[in-house]
Amino acid sequence: MDIIEIFGSKVFGETEMRQRLPKRVYDSLKHTNREGAPLDPAIAEVVAGAMKDWAVENGATHYTHWFQPMTNITAGKHDSFLTPTSDGSIILEFSGKSLVVGEPDASSFPNGGLRNTFEARGYTAWDPTSPAFIRDHTLYIPTAFCAYTGEALDMKTPLLRSMQTLSAEALRILHLFGNNTSHRVIPTVGAEQEYFLVDRNLYEKRLDLKICGRTLFGAKPPKGQELDDHYCGRIRLRVAEFMEKLDKELWSLGVTSKTKHNEAAPAQHELAPVFASANIACDHNHLTMEMMRITAKKLELACLLHEKPFAGVNGSGKHNNWSLSTDDGLNLLDPGKTPWENVQFLTFLCAVITAVHEYSDLLRLSATSAGNDHRLGGYEAPPAIISIFLGEQLTHILTDIANGKDVDVPAAVSLQMGVETLPNLNRDESDRNRTSPFAFTGNKFEFRMVGSSQSIALANVMLNAAVADVLHNYADRLAQSDDFDTELKAIISDTVRDHSAVIFNGNNYSAEWVEEAKRRGLPNLANTVDAIEAMIDCKNINLFERTGIFSESECRSRYDIMLENYCKVVSIEAATMLEMAKRQIFPACVKYAGDIATSFNAMSTAGLGAASVKKHLALLDELIGDIQDHICALEDAYAYAQGIACHKDHAVAMRNCVLPAMDTLRASCDRMETIVDYDCWPMPTYTDLLHRV
Ligand code: ADP
Ligand code: MG
Repeated sequence: MDIIEIFGSKVFGETEMRQRLPKRVYDSLKHTNREGAPLDPAIAEVVAGAMKDWAVENGATHYTHWFQPMTNITAGKHDSFLTPTSDGSIILEFSGKSLVVGEPDASSFPNGGLRNTFEARGYTAWDPTSPAFIRDHTLYIPTAFCAYTGEALDMKTPLLRSMQTLSAEALRILHLFGNNTSHRVIPTVGAEQEYFLVDRNLYEKRLDLKICGRTLFGAKPPKGQELDDHYCGRIRLRVAEFMEKLDKELWSLGVTSKTKHNEAAPAQHELAPVFASANIACDHNHLTMEMMRITAKKLELACLLHEKPFAGVNGSGKHNNWSLSTDDGLNLLDPGKTPWENVQFLTFLCAVITAVHEYSDLLRLSATSAGNDHRLGGYEAPPAIISIFLGEQLTHILTDIANGKDVDVPAAVSLQMGVETLPNLNRDESDRNRTSPFAFTGNKFEFRMVGSSQSIALANVMLNAAVADVLHNYADRLAQSDDFDTELKAIISDTVRDHSAVIFNGNNYSAEWVEEAKRRGLPNLANTVDAIEAMIDCKNINLFERTGIFSESECRSRYDIMLENYCKVVSIEAATMLEMAKRQIFPACVKYAGDIATSFNAMSTAGLGAASVKKHLALLDELIGDIQDHICALEDAYAYAQGIACHKDHAVAMRNCVLPAMDTLRASCDRMETIVDYDCWPMPTYTDLLHRV
């Protein structure tokens, strides 16, 4: 496989643009890309023509405005290039207008009341900063999606708005530091993606996996991840074939898939790309998830992107690595060799610390979903409390500067492994911390809370918004101050004084941390219903309005969409569970008990005591009764919750009544699974699913 040849072969990228566009048009587009300058409308016609020619030469018959509604998946209507002519023949046409704007029905996507069904008009607008590509004979044009009123109805629009604001504020700081060569500051993002692969035939036999993406039943298997023998272990042949095919597809689409490995749980894996600018990283992460699903299906596998497909083993997340880069390639969060002297780095570092502390509720919100509630706070995933891991060295540097002390830096340590033939290794300045939800990892921050099936857009919107706002204050302070250096020192001291509470370098999984965090006043928003409130908090609405990222009505509509989505997801799960319990598990158990009763009768007739069989029957009878009771209890809870009109109260009832009733029903069914004959159990078990690829 020739990576160089394959990479980007389906993308209308740099090479194609340079070859096919007149220099004037190419330069104009590059200007928009590199510096975030407004798009010159006059070039659209020429770009559209070139794109269409390239797409048709590469087998495309259709084009689509590809967008990201608030469903965590992507959407698009496909139009062919076909245009009839007056003489009855056809030509292939793609106008500048068709490239720039599309008009899907806005009322059919989640809009949180921004659109009524009779007010259907919505627009998609070309995002020229993310390249178009071809998939399945269709030219995909990345777009942003808004309502007739201009209000955002998607994940991309706020992301682009937040990138613009952040760039403006970060540039103000850079100018104050004397940098006049950078024209744009771009949040860079690399999203590590975790996923599970299971056998397709087994998957097809599980209604819960097919409908909900997670198992709603399943007894603990004899072997889960106790032996820690899956993480980075040998990649099985079928999985290796999947990864190879996936890489090839992703590379052709210009996605820089870089790392692949087995994750901690059996059947769990991970893919990491090389980072890109936030909007492209977000587009690429969507493509990655879609190609994962499709590629798995082609190989008789099923890819599970749910945050917690299996109870009792690790769930899946998405590590959102985030940093700030200038258009001329300077990483603003790179400490360099002597971070204590790198005041510009320390300024941006303080901005991130302050932003994360002040807006931790928004970061928490960005990673919240009914699915991720099963993962966050589990022993394998970061807790629901937001804190920052900085490492000992940076923490010391900041405190020393704040206290007016000379920075005391320990000399670099070289590692002795006790074997002469092994190379000498220099130890990193600080250790890794795998338990922190927001960890500094050398020259970037890693936000580990995002769920595996979620779009990464919102997490980056929140980060960008919060950091932009803090930088805005810094820039004002620095611009108004007579003494730049003194003001910088004051910024660092203020950060240490006011925001050290958010820094925690210890074990985030420990029970002591929960107590300690409470003492420090850090919020612990344990579930979606509580976390969503941040979207309509006054302080946050003000932030969004100040930074131009969301209007108040957009905040309220998103709040409603999130609540409604939570209710719908839990409701679908409860309905699926009832269907499986009533129509698969209960009948199977009754039939099995009947078989045992028949055997018992036969044994008795033969003059045998069959006391243990009788005991087994009694247990079956008891558990069948439990299952029936718990089905009724779930039905009652479900009916009660469905009857509540207010979204918030409905969500609370889902969390407080429906989910616990589901847990109870699951417990009795899982107990039953452990005593029923394999052949009678109506669905594949955890052992089948986790160990049969
Ligand atoms: P790990 O988290 O296992 O240490 P890496 O250090 O290789 O893995 O990085 C993980 C991810 O972080 C990759 O997707 C990588 O591209 C991304 N990354 C590296 N540098 C940056 C950066 N400056 N900005 C954003 N993401 C980055
Ligand atoms: Mg990582």
